[in-house]
Amino acid sequence: MPEVKSKLSAKAASAQKLQAVNPATGRIIKEIDEFPIKQVSAAYQNARAAEKEWSSLRMKERLAYFRELRYLMSRKLEQIVQIISSDTGKTKTEALTADVMPVLDALVYFEQNAERILSRQSTSTPLLFLGKKSYIEYMSRGAVLVISPWNFPLQLAMIPMLSALAGGNAVILKPSEVTPLVGLLIEVLFKEAGFPEHTVQVAHGGKELGAALTKGKPDFIFFTGSVKTGKIIQAQAARDLIPTILELGGKDPMIVFKDANIERAVNGAIWGAFTNSGQVCMSTERLYVERPIYNAFVAKMREKVIQLKQGYGDNDDIGSMTSPLQLDIVKEQLEDAVCKGAKLITGELPDYWDSSNEMFIKPIILVDVNEDMDIIKEETFGPVIPIIPFDSEEEAINMANNSLYGLNASVWTNDLEKAEKVVSKLVTGNAAINDVMVSVVNHGLPFGGVKQSGIGRYHGEGGLRAFCHEKAVMADTGKKNYEIQWYPYKGKHQLFLKLFQNIFGPDKKWGESAKLYLDIVKYSKK
Ligand code: NAD
Repeated sequence: MPEVKSKLSAKAASAQKLQAVNPATGRIIKEIDEFPIKQVSAAYQNARAAEKEWSSLRMKERLAYFRELRYLMSRKLEQIVQIISSDTGKTKTEALTADVMPVLDALVYFEQNAERILSRQSTSTPLLFLGKKSYIEYMSRGAVLVISPWNFPLQLAMIPMLSALAGGNAVILKPSEVTPLVGLLIEVLFKEAGFPEHTVQVAHGGKELGAALTKGKPDFIFFTGSVKTGKIIQAQAARDLIPTILELGGKDPMIVFKDANIERAVNGAIWGAFTNSGQVCMSTERLYVERPIYNAFVAKMREKVIQLKQGYGDNDDIGSMTSPLQLDIVKEQLEDAVCKGAKLITGELPDYWDSSNEMFIKPIILVDVNEDMDIIKEETFGPVIPIIPFDSEEEAINMANNSLYGLNASVWTNDLEKAEKVVSKLVTGNAAINDVMVSVVNHGLPFGGVKQSGIGRYHGEGGLRAFCHEKAVMADTGKKNYEIQWYPYKGKHQLFLKLFQNIFGPDKKWGESAKLYLDIVKYSKK
């Protein structure tokens, strides 16, 4: 019998140490020192000192560290995957493809694009300000605080950290206390890749430390986690006017029309709902199927779901849950649904969590579901998929949009024109056609939510620039002594009126405009 501990009882074991526990086996893997809250202010001082040096490096020099990190991660790939898998209970294939690969791909994206995206951008100058130069410059913000969750503990910490670092910022990461081993891994990776001291600091600890770091007046906060915590962080940030990006929860709809490739849609729904044991902000959480194919679709899905292999081995499909707290939430949502008439056609109701319980939930398909049930309204971080039939395109769109969330959605049909039309009516930050979740792994696309799913975007060009101050500059040669809109105003008002009517009205009258302009110049020189 292994030394069985859950992530909750292990956490309670010591106030100064976080215990990394493998949720699939219950084994304690390691104890990690917590970052003392009294050192928060020193951490910011160190970060700001490091940022001065780091931001003064040329982009090429910064990106050389990125390349080192990528090579290091490629060399240690197996070890990294093993650590993630043991800290989360997810299968190794999921650790590799969904947590490590996106970081490697983001590194390549930054190495290839960061210089272009963050270099000075020239822009046009209005005719009235002829002779001046206009441009936008991107400047580091300072010390960026990244607070990350446990479901994809590597990529949801490292990609925002790298975005901040590319922009010349120093970073303090507060990784999730539920997966502290991955927090430690990140610290070691940046150290071994040779990043200068204090450019990256990893502060291990729980929500009290997260709150103290948020109150410590960072220059920017990037948060990924629950809506509840996002609101707490945003309230504190508002007090200090600190800009934020918040990446929060989701309740993603999948709409399957009767003309879709049913085999593909069933396979996509199963993976979209159950990958990472359903603990994905973008997982498929509400499945709407057009009524004529509903029964066949549900039957096919059941047939395939009961064949999925659950466990922790290389060939297993579904790993364990990671956070014990989520077991109870999933259980409560399922009980609410069953009380209101829903039926499980695969899986079974899990037990309330206690430290001797297994952390595996068998994948659950729910039918006879309605919109009054929590399972349709609240985010479910577990392997559960409720299926609802619909009769018209409009009804499907209305049901999909009837949510507090708007992170991601998918539309399935062979009619691509219809798919695009439906997607453009969905209130969501991300969408896929005949696929699930996939936009997040294209680093060139922005990522983020609408409504309660979050504020702001990362990934893509805008998502990189968001980590910088955007500075607008107009430059004059300084040779002439006046500007036409400066004092004195005497004699100029009527001339300006005519000039603007000419320039902005339908008839340009360039000859007359040039004369008016020169008359204004004459008054300006007086
Ligand atoms: P959580 O909000 O409980 O914790 C997230 C992080 O915030 C942890 O590091 C935690 O220690 C810290 N924290 C908690 N309270 C804090 C406080 N008062 N001040 C500062 N920091 C505090 O979320 P979780 O359970 O770790 O993650 C699951 C949630 O994350 C789900 O709702 C999921 O949808 C969301 N999520 C969103 C995305 C996205 O990109 N939109 C991605 C993954 C997960």
